[in-house]
Amino acid sequence: MDADTTPVDAEAVDTLAVHAGREDLAALGLHAPPIDLSTTYPSYDSRGEAARIDAFAATGEAPEGPPVYGRLGNPTVARFEAALARLEDTEAAVAFASGMAALSAVLLAQHATGLRHVVAVRPLYGCSDHLLTAGLLGSEVTWTDPAGVADAIRPDTALVMVESPANPTLAEVDLEALAEACGTVPLLVDNTFATPVLQRPAHSGARLVLHSATKYLGGHGDVLGGVVACDEAFARRLRQIRFATGGVLHPLAGYLLLRGLATLPVRVRAASATAAELVARLAADPRVLRVHYPKVGGAMVAFETLTDPHDVIARVRLITPAVSLGSVDSLIQHPASISHRIVPEDDRASSGVSDRLLRMSVGLEDVEDLWRDLDRALGSELSTPALHTGVHASREVRLADA
Ligand SMILES: *Cc1c(COP(=O)(O)O)cnc(C)c1O
Repeated sequence: MDADTTPVDAEAVDTLAVHAGREDLAALGLHAPPIDLSTTYPSYDSRGEAARIDAFAATGEAPEGPPVYGRLGNPTVARFEAALARLEDTEAAVAFASGMAALSAVLLAQHATGLRHVVAVRPLYGCSDHLLTAGLLGSEVTWTDPAGVADAIRPDTALVMVESPANPTLAEVDLEALAEACGTVPLLVDNTFATPVLQRPAHSGARLVLHSATKYLGGHGDVLGGVVACDEAFARRLRQIRFATGGVLHPLAGYLLLRGLATLPVRVRAASATAAELVARLAADPRVLRVHYPKVGGAMVAFETLTDPHDVIARVRLITPAVSLGSVDSLIQHPASISHRIVPEDDRASSGVSDRLLRMSVGLEDVEDLWRDLDRALGSELSTPALHTGVHASREVRLADA
């Protein structure tokens, strides 16, 4: 049967979230998307297959018809890619086994052209920082602040990379100004924290929009995935890298991510409203030194405590003390011990990841229940000897204007 695959005629994120990537279902007589777990696809026409393989090898264009082999592509994963591309308003998206596999593919694609230099702004997610700093893929990185990006760019610069809001401090970058400073060098924006519900970096000039789909896109803490939304030309190179290096997303993960996208706008807005209320209460609390919350909003909150942050982690009960974020339930963690442990101590400190900082991913629980848990976990003992640095005097609230 010829399926009608005309892209859904809608602009709003809410509509796209539930319809994009599912346009052909009614014509197929289906309502829920099918899961195709095939690793291989039969064909009695090996001349035709040869031509399709040649075409893919030469261009990276997704083959028409069945994918030949599961590492070239998968129809269930393709639905998620189509939907995410619509949500980020890019021509294409290419999905990977994890956020780190997605970032690795971007670096490999650029390094393969001889461009090995990366300009990056701290903080980044701890493992992204590590991948660049350790040069595991042969990158040479120059760290700078957003104002220094134009000067840091060299003839061999492959990429400019930022997160906004950044993990874990929620620091924001003016993406339009940054895109301008990048000139012809591709700007990669990790949009994991904001999601396309709050911000579409491609509209600000980012050529590559990266997600750890493990977080908000999946949204239920039960699937690892990564995705790069970009123009079709870059997507073709990413598909070639994915085919040759094998960091594919499993079809079940593709299904779960497409399912997660459907509720992304309502989840992000509901959790953001709760986060904003918690920010107001934390900012007014004498046990809290500083609260970080971005202008763009969102469901991530970072705060520095005057009580020992390790005690807060030990005392939460409703909130789960765990790394990761973006799930339906709330998580809290101590970046200096966990998510950013792998970043050298001095680099952590200079990019605002203080030893007092806690990062909370606000879920869909009731705000009063969350506050009761936080309030109890913050305790009553202001400053432990180890943490006593006279910070009471400099207590400040860093909201929006940060
Ligand atoms: C978690 C995370 C990553 C890495 O994604 P994985 O899916 O864990 O590989 C990249 N960037 C940000 C901002 C993250 O939070």
